[in-house]
Amino acid sequence: MDIIVLKPNATEEDIRRIVKKLESRGLGVNISKGTERTVIGVIGDTSKISEEEEDAIRVMPGIEDVMRILKPYKLASRDFKADDTTVDIEGKVIGGRKIQIIAGPCAVESRTMIINIAEKVKEAGASFLRGGAFKPRTSPYSFQGLGEEGLKYLAEARERTGLPVVTELMDPRDIEVVIKYADIVQIGARNMQNFRLLLEVGSRDKPILLKRGFSATIKEWLMAAEYIMSKGNQKIILCERGVRTFETATRNTLDLSAVPVLKQLTHLPVVVDPSHGVGKWDLVAPMSKAAVAAGADGLLIEVHMNPEEALSDGEQSLKPDYFKKLMSELRPIASAVGRDI
Ligand code: PEP
Ligand code: MN
Repeated sequence: MDIIVLKPNATEEDIRRIVKKLESRGLGVNISKGTERTVIGVIGDTSKISEEEEDAIRVMPGIEDVMRILKPYKLASRDFKADDTTVDIEGKVIGGRKIQIIAGPCAVESRTMIINIAEKVKEAGASFLRGGAFKPRTSPYSFQGLGEEGLKYLAEARERTGLPVVTELMDPRDIEVVIKYADIVQIGARNMQNFRLLLEVGSRDKPILLKRGFSATIKEWLMAAEYIMSKGNQKIILCERGVRTFETATRNTLDLSAVPVLKQLTHLPVVVDPSHGVGKWDLVAPMSKAAVAAGADGLLIEVHMNPEEALSDGEQSLKPDYFKKLMSELRPIASAVGRDI
């Protein structure tokens, strides 16, 4: 909250009361009296004024509007840190010139399955392996993931291929075991505003892939990143994965405009997940290309050896050969926007 616009009929008494209120919060004022209106510029660190407090100030007599210039997310904002943040995972940098591809199945289904896919996606040029061991399923009767057993298979696939692994954490009770095996911890769309979970991962030194909630605004998403950062962990990668709209032709509506918007608002790297964004395998390639053109720092793509038999998200999973073809099609687009893949 940085600028307070007064009503034309605001009295000296109103102004005195507003100034007193601000001074009681350690803030200074600069009163500018125009011919029609008076404006109060607030001086000092206003980031400690909560939105609730701002709303309370807004209803004080004589005030017409309160405008915040500083963003409510401070650590995540570009104003706070102008340079792009890069997250380095064993020499693989997310947020640099190279667009990093995270690929693998929705869920780890068996040991051989994850090892086979890891080898295939590596051969196609992916830099990271993904796979869920704790799956957030809509139905309690659906496959829930292999838990720690799945994490062990991921670690074995990493050992064989050298690909660092990305896997989801759903519950603070599983944090030790997930952190033990993961190179990047995914916070899924359903948990973007699970604030206790965000604070837990914020106090650990592990890169976090923070997916956008189904109906989260960009501001809410950045506030979720701020929760993590407020505890000290600055290694955050944002992941656009589509939001829910009235449209039913695709599983979600992939908000690619979020990429350039985020590039203005935050220094954090941005990855796009076209697989969950569209929900259909044959729409993944065009949206992957569009995401690269829009400036994404990486892509998260679901790949399965045999999508017809997948235990989750088969409909949106690419077969390895198709994924490999997509990788080669992405290269000229990346170079056209000054990036490598
Ligand atoms: C996933 O990555 O498999 C997943 C469940 O993603 P989201 O949280 O975006 O739905
Ligand atoms: Mn999935």
